[in-house]
Amino acid sequence: MSPSKHASSFAEISLSALKENLRQVQIQAENTPILAIVKANAYGHGAVPITQFLSQQKDKIKMFGVAFFEEGLALRSAGIRDPILILTGCMPEQIPDMIAEELTPVIFDVQTLEAINTAAIKQEKPVKIHLKIDTGMGRLGIRPEAVRAFMLKVLSCPSVTLEGILSHFAEADLKDLSFAQKQLSRLQTILEDFTDKGLNVPYCHLANSAGIFQLKSAQLDCVRPGIMLYGYSPLEEAIPHKLTPIMQVKARIITLKTVPKGTPISYGRTFITKRKSRIATVAIGYADGYPLSLSNRGMMIAKGKLVPVTGRVCMDMCMLDVSDAPPLTIGDYVTVIGSEGSTSMWAQQVASLAKTHVYEILCGIGSRVKRCYV
Ligand SMILES: *Cc1c(COP(=O)(O)O)cnc(C)c1O
Repeated sequence: MSPSKHASSFAEISLSALKENLRQVQIQAENTPILAIVKANAYGHGAVPITQFLSQQKDKIKMFGVAFFEEGLALRSAGIRDPILILTGCMPEQIPDMIAEELTPVIFDVQTLEAINTAAIKQEKPVKIHLKIDTGMGRLGIRPEAVRAFMLKVLSCPSVTLEGILSHFAEADLKDLSFAQKQLSRLQTILEDFTDKGLNVPYCHLANSAGIFQLKSAQLDCVRPGIMLYGYSPLEEAIPHKLTPIMQVKARIITLKTVPKGTPISYGRTFITKRKSRIATVAIGYADGYPLSLSNRGMMIAKGKLVPVTGRVCMDMCMLDVSDAPPLTIGDYVTVIGSEGSTSMWAQQVASLAKTHVYEILCGIGSRVKRCYV
């Protein structure tokens, strides 16, 4: 492991593990084309390097997906020319740049559709869009009953091509897939209607990672894995899988001291040592995405041994009781997320201790944590 010199904390990201996870997605998705989701800084892993790497796997990945226009622009600025889908669409003032940069918006209202058409005519540049349908998520998308009217509108916009139709699962991660099935069949009804009318849309897509794992029939023309690529299962109930987490987070011990029994640790004195203790102060805090909720709950790995977080997590630091760990020195790194030998503390485990889900832990890893790619 080679952190950049003097890094207080760093995240080591394995590109070979990412490649292997991509292969696992292909196996699960039975070679359905992939729209790789790299929103939210590629779930905390670094959008530009991750997308650049995945972009080299051209035969496997058809397109990239980000949440916002700005995220798409950042990828374009980094020289990434692959198709990029903007999952939350675009605001009116973003349309000219969106067209110029050839970003593909997801559309879910007529107003935006018309504005895009007008701008496309003005810029003399045809635009591809994907239409989002709300089949049960209750977030983005036009309602199924509005699809016909919307389609007529699309057909009357000569500069707009409907390249895709999509919807999003609300609970494909559960054991009970009845609602997911319902969403799939709502989407299928719409697609059949399109086919009947002789309308051909190249990409119809619905499956997120949970859908890829659990609903083969939802693979359609394209799948949209996010969390799987980064090595975690989205499922509520853990099932055996061959994914490998691609990121390990390490933070440095800033100071070490032995304190007597009865010593309060950190803000609010929520922890009082019950014995003579060796306390390490570590350079990671909630500003770096190590949640406050891990105060007196979190665990890290020090020289192969799991050690508890004592007292409240601070903005930039937290304290560990390392009394039971092998001897440590100032400047040593502890593992915040990752494994040492047979001892592990992956983001899934961190999330469970913090009573949240793995997505929030990964996305939350802050910008001070230096990303290193191996
Ligand atoms: C985030 C997102 C995904 C990926 O979800 P995972 O559970 O991480 O696989 C897919 N589709 C849409 C629309 C999303 O917003």
